[in-house]
Amino acid sequence: MEFVLTVGMKLWKPMKMSNVMEKSVCIVKLTCRECGNTFEFPVFVDDLEKYTERKEGIQYALPYVSSDYRDLMISGICPGCWDKIMEADEEKRIRIINKYK
Ligand SMILES: [Zn+2]
Repeated sequence: MEFVLTVGMKLWKPMKMSNVMEKSVCIVKLTCRECGNTFEFPVFVDDLEKYTERKEGIQYALPYVSSDYRDLMISGICPGCWDKIMEADEEKRIRIINKYK
């Protein structure tokens, strides 16, 4: 099974990798909308479905994914760019955040 999901404007496409104890693992591949860096991390397919299809809260569906990566899944912005956004002055911060609404 293959997922193609949209987070904001970017497509992300995790690929099935292998079976671990009869649970399929896939790699979530995300590109930061701010800097364009790509991040990859493994998740169980079941859990990804919980988040994308059953709309469970990401912290319940994917509790083992670091909060940085969860933020990236939700916002499409990587941890490094969030730091920059938070360090920026308020006017600039609002401009960046509005760009992705
Ligand atoms: Zn970034």
